[in-house]
Parts: sequence; C-alpha cells; structure tokens
Amino acid sequence: MTTNIRTVTATFRGHDTSDGAGVKLTRVLSPQDVRLADPFLLFDEFRSDRPEDYDAGFPPHPHRGFETVTYVMAGRMRHRDNHGNQGDLGPGSVQWMTAGRGIVHEEMPQQEQGLMWGYQLWVNLPAARKMTAPRYQDIPADRIPEVGLPGGGKARVLAGRLEGVAGPVSEVAVEPAYLDVSLPAGGTFRWSPPDGHTVLLHGVEGWFTVGKGGRTFRTREMALLSRTGDVAVQAGGGGARFLVIAGRPLFEPVAHHGPFVMNTREEILQALEDFQAGRF
Ligand code: FE
Repeated sequence: MTTNIRTVTATFRGHDTSDGAGVKLTRVLSPQDVRLADPFLLFDEFRSDRPEDYDAGFPPHPHRGFETVTYVMAGRMRHRDNHGNQGDLGPGSVQWMTAGRGIVHEEMPQQEQGLMWGYQLWVNLPAARKMTAPRYQDIPADRIPEVGLPGGGKARVLAGRLEGVAGPVSEVAVEPAYLDVSLPAGGTFRWSPPDGHTVLLHGVEGWFTVGKGGRTFRTREMALLSRTGDVAVQAGGGGARFLVIAGRPLFEPVAHHGPFVMNTREEILQALEDFQAGRF
C-alpha cells in the first residue's frame, strides 16, 4: 500500500514588525493569508535578548471571536485579564486561550534581561462558537508529553495525537494538533493528520526538506501543505527543529478588524460597540 505524501502548496517568510507597546517580532502568517491557512489567522515569533525589544510587552487589549495560543520557548510572561484570570507562562509552557465573546488582557514579560522567545498563533472559531464564554488552558512544561520518534528524534505533543500519545490541550473547535519536533541529522518524521486538515510546518532551528526530495525550509520559514496524505519531513545535515500546526478548516467568511475576528462587518461593528461600552 502506498500512502500519499503531502506536498508544499505555499511558503510564508516572516517579516519584521512590532506590536503591543512596541515589541519587536517576526510576523510569519497574517490575517490576509486566512483563505490559504484556514483556520489559522496569524503566526508571530518574538525572539530577542535585547530588553528594549520586548520590555514594553502587550498592555491591556481586547480579543473577540477566536483563540490565541502562546508557546514560550525561553523567558517568562504574565497574563492577566479583566475577568480576574491570571497566570505565569514559563519556558516550555503553552497557553491556549479561547477569547470567545470577549476579554481584555495584558501579556507582560517578567524579566528585565535575557532571552525572550516564543510564538503566538491565532486560531479561528466557527461562527457557532465565536460568542462562547472565554476559557483558558494554561499548561505548564511538565504536563506536555515528549515522545520518541521511530525515525530518530523526539516531539513534544502540545495538542493532538502522535505515536498514540495525546497532548493536554482539549476540546478545541478545530481539532488542532501542535507538535514541537526535534530531529537529529538526517532523521525523519512521519505523521498522518486527518484528511482535509490544514497543516503548517514552521522552521525553528536547522533546516529540513518536506515530502519526497521536496523543498528545503529554514528558521522562520513556514510551509503550507496539501490537504491529504501523510506529512513526511527529513532533517538536514545539522538536524532540525520545527513546529507542526494542524487543524480543521472552517470555510466560513472572515471579517477581521485588529483584535476582533468575526464573520460579518456588522459583527465587527457590534464588537467595537461592545468593547467601547465595557461589555467585554
Ligand atoms: Fe492578546
């Protein structure tokens, strides 16, 4: 039996920008890419050891209609929202936040020097769940399982299933997978996501090739894969580390305005009105 291997259908290269109160970051995926990357809306990397690049943080701001996923590689962030939720995100931890009908929160660095490194992903919610109650899944590093891979290497399973191991993030509408894969030189990774699910691969360290004799990806480059078959990756000479992000596409209209992602322009106007009236 031969299984189809997914091929690369688009490549996203990060560009430098800033957000929050002036945090320098690399934006790899933007909301205008949603038609391709549905259900994923945005993907940012922040990675700097210069305090002036990150110390201003992300002071209070709203979100409605989607989910934010923060994966911390190094450093420490504190989040706090207007409903009294608060938590500390340390190295290796993930926060899967369902903003739903609305929160106002801040995300602030808890260090004055050293490396601050992490990723933020925005995941869309289906129309039926955009106005759901806000929910947090704050997962410390020691609750994220690490599995050995048959082709060498290892993977942390934040969400979804790999080699029979399920990640701790649960009950998310798009049935996501989020894997942090490390391969030795020449090591291979093989995984079968559900047919039809969107799959993104993002280069963290080293370089890797996708598919049979496929294209090469490096740090800060992201591959979008075709919609059916297995994911097959091979690490380059120095080994590779990459993130695998997958989920069920929604195929719904997207109306996006800043931190609000709804289905229609009317819902965006309503979100602005609700936020201004303090109804978040
Ligand atoms: Fe935020």
